[in-house]
Amino acid sequence: MRRDRRRLAIDIVVPVYNEEAVVAEFHRQLIDVVRPLRREHDVRICYVNDGSVDHTGAELLKLAADDAGVTILELSRNFGHQAALTAGLDRAEGDVVITLDGDGQHPPELIADMIGLYRAGYDVVLTQRVAAEASRFKRWTSAAFYRLLSVIGNTPMTTGSADYRLLSRPVLEALRQMREYHRFLRGMVAWAGYRTVVLPYAERSRLGGSSKYSLRGMARLAADATFSFSLVPLRIALVVGSCFLLLAVAEAFYVMSFWLTGRQHLLVPGWSSLMFMLLIVGAALMIAVGFVGVYVGYIFQEVKRRPVYLVRSVHRATPEAAAEPEAAAEPEAAAEPEAAAEPEEGRER
Ligand code: UDP
Ligand code: MG
Repeated sequence: MRRDRRRLAIDIVVPVYNEEAVVAEFHRQLIDVVRPLRREHDVRICYVNDGSVDHTGAELLKLAADDAGVTILELSRNFGHQAALTAGLDRAEGDVVITLDGDGQHPPELIADMIGLYRAGYDVVLTQRVAAEASRFKRWTSAAFYRLLSVIGNTPMTTGSADYRLLSRPVLEALRQMREYHRFLRGMVAWAGYRTVVLPYAERSRLGGSSKYSLRGMARLAADATFSFSLVPLRIALVVGSCFLLLAVAEAFYVMSFWLTGRQHLLVPGWSSLMFMLLIVGAALMIAVGFVGVYVGYIFQEVKRRPVYLVRSVHRATPEAAAEPEAAAEPEAAAEPEAAAEPEEGRER
């Protein structure tokens, strides 16, 4: 399943927001990695300026001035990290696209390894923080979050995964079919599947500036991930209602036991019926709410308009392929590199 060693069109997407202090140094480090790669491949870099209000825009223009392979995408305002990444992914036209943060926390040196793994046949190369220099609070909340998500969500996600990854053309096309508004790309990539490999890395500290994810921003991302990948919260009412129902049945047996043993005079008058009504009405209400929740969940999944399935490859039985079955097992996208390798048109700068 190894891919041939032809020249690849590689798009690198970097979202930046108020990174005036670090973007020049980041670009220098990135170019150190990209320069040798350019001997073998066509590498384009796309900075997505996510509505920065400092001098990031001017700094980016300086970088693009002496490199035709650098594109700058200016968003009209700050749309957030996931939206900025999406904007860059939507414009990528290469065989592979690599996304990484523009603050220096994602070491660009990994890019060569990622390309190597793509060559080896993988469609998705994820990265995983192993020795993060992040604060203990951030590490702890992140670990707890991924654990919770893997319990209540039905998409297994790599703990400590970052938005630093390589996607091949078919995966990129799949992501483009997923137009949901509340986006959690890590989950969406995991949902898409395809041959995936995880590359561990030691996260560096920021080159400068400060994190753009406030506690609120992190909570919002966690909410987007939870509610767009799990229907468990909607079913809580159903579970609570069922518990009430069980309690009502238990209460009925409890009361009955008094009558059967002739101790009914010990029961406070009215308690049995009142308690039973309370429990049964509670159960009925919660179960009804639970069913509404289930329908809302189904509607929610429908309006997301995600594809029902994704095809990785198609095997066709041709006479040559019958003699050599591996040849037919190549992913479809590998068969149409010309279209993907077209030079980017409509470059803004
Ligand atoms: N970023 C962005 N838009 C935002 C917030 C962040 O484009 O609204 C960029 C930011 O410039 C950086 C990357 O996304 O390149 C990751 O953000 P940050 O480093 O603040 O997140 P952290 O690493 O602290 O999770
Ligand atoms: Mg960062």
